[in-house]
Amino acid sequence: MPHVTRVENPRWLNQLSSHTRPGRVVNICFFVVLLFSTLLTWREVVVLEEAYISSQRNTLENVAHELNNQFQLNVDRLFFYRTGMEAALRTPLAFEVMRNASEEFDRKRGQHQWSISLDNRRTLPVNGVSDEFVNDSTILSRDNPLLSNELTATLEVGYLLRLSTSLKRVTQQLLYVSRAGFFISSNPVANSNDIVEQYYTLVTSPWFASQSQRSNPARGIRWLSWMLDTGNGEQRRVAVTLPVDSQNIWHGVLAIEFSLAQIKQLLAKSTEGETEGEYRLYDHQMNLIATSTPGGGASASLSEQEKAQLAQAFEHDTRGGVRFSTSYINWQKLRNYDGVLLRIHHIDEGVRGEFGSISIALGLLWLLFTSMLLLSWIVIRRMVTNMSTLQDSLQWQAWHDGLTRLYNRSTLFDLAAKATRRCEHQGLPISVVQLDLDFFKSINDRFGHQAGDKVLAHVAGMISAKVREIDIAGRVGGEEFCLVLPGASHKDACALAERIRTRINSREILVAKGTTLRISASLGVSSSDDKGMYDIEYLQSVADKRLYYAKQNGRNQVCCCDKDESQ
Ligand code: GH3
Ligand code: MG
Ligand code: MG
Repeated sequence: MPHVTRVENPRWLNQLSSHTRPGRVVNICFFVVLLFSTLLTWREVVVLEEAYISSQRNTLENVAHELNNQFQLNVDRLFFYRTGMEAALRTPLAFEVMRNASEEFDRKRGQHQWSISLDNRRTLPVNGVSDEFVNDSTILSRDNPLLSNELTATLEVGYLLRLSTSLKRVTQQLLYVSRAGFFISSNPVANSNDIVEQYYTLVTSPWFASQSQRSNPARGIRWLSWMLDTGNGEQRRVAVTLPVDSQNIWHGVLAIEFSLAQIKQLLAKSTEGETEGEYRLYDHQMNLIATSTPGGGASASLSEQEKAQLAQAFEHDTRGGVRFSTSYINWQKLRNYDGVLLRIHHIDEGVRGEFGSISIALGLLWLLFTSMLLLSWIVIRRMVTNMSTLQDSLQWQAWHDGLTRLYNRSTLFDLAAKATRRCEHQGLPISVVQLDLDFFKSINDRFGHQAGDKVLAHVAGMISAKVREIDIAGRVGGEEFCLVLPGASHKDACALAERIRTRINSREILVAKGTTLRISASLGVSSSDDKGMYDIEYLQSVADKRLYYAKQNGRNQVCCCDKDESQ
């Protein structure tokens, strides 16, 4: 008996394909590749971001270092003047001019305003107010044993201040303001009638009171920014100050006052060569002091919410970075200034920069890779679907008879052999029905081959309608059919065969236009319980023999026993 030849796949492949459909395997593979490529790209982006942040931080650090140096120069200068003054307070120069100056002070101290100068080309004049003015104020006092020494020390510092300003490096205002009603300034008093007013402005500046022994017990440097009424509206100024004391007496304050334009100059000097990002200097109360933009103000001021967020960050660290919607802000507190330096890097600058172009290239690569992957996924999915449809159809064709849609001969015997083994194992009977159409050749002869085919398909339909799902029905020859009925006893099989015969014989079949035909079939039945054997080939040959008896006996009948038994 011929068998269907099948290509044997490895066991693991069979197990895999029985559990997973190829389409699903393709989906999983592509998903994994997409996931890994996305993870890799994401990892690259994280590394890039870290590099960007550290490069931003380094740039800011350099500028902050420069700015700190600029401020340090001014701080050093104040300490230098203070050391000079302290020495002069302890041991004043015993020059004639100094003695004369002291005597001049004694003469002028009662005047509303006065000025003492040694030589205007080498030192700066000391400007002062009256005893009355000093007595009216609680913070001021001339009741001081070193008063004369302080005046001559002030004249000596005036020499140093003049020296500094004549070097033309200094644009800011250098000052010594005494509590004893006089001051010295690197900016000359424009009008001698303004002395009182100017002294008043200086001693009422917030930085003067902030250097009292109570407000600054450490007696160190203080930075301050405040709004000054200049007569033409308010203007913010910044000052760095240092108190001068001796023998536990507070004499006065050395100060350097800057306008915001001067601070801006310092910032501009520190940011020389920097092409990207905007630098901003804020004081500790988040007042904008200077910005590196060429114009006056900042390019876009920070919102209150952003300021609050930054102020919160300043509380805990000395430097850091904050990302806002369209910018990345790096900040660092300054060592020599009571404030914070900000570097604002806008997103458009970031995109134009080195890191931006690498990020864009990376994003485009990912996009390209992902779209190629999607495209190939679509193509492969379609191919896999087509292939499995083709495979199903080929398999169906290999197992079935195309005309009747029943199993073909070899598949029928394969399946029947397995069913027989199963029934034998379970102790169940199995039956075989062999069916052959009567005088079929004459149908072909009378109505043509096509009509014959139609009859065959019709009969197959009737057989299929009568059998159970577990029964195996096949076409084993031209107009011969075989039914294998697992679990059916001989009696059941004969009854079924009879029902099929009756049905085939009861219907008129339309074979051609206006022509119907009634056909009949002869059937032979054999069973394992009848023969006591579980051999499908033997059972089929018995059924075939009984079919032959049915033919011999006059056709259109079922034969369930052998000829000798029926006699
Ligand atoms: P009997 O009652 O003795 O079985 O007579 P019969 O004519 O049915 O038997 P026979 O074996 O002489 O003829 C069978 C015919 O079946 C011969 C062949 O032309 C026809 N046949 C075989 N396969 C096909 C087929 O696929 N299509 C058609 N239309 N006819 C077929
Ligand atoms: Mg026949
Ligand atoms: Mg035949």
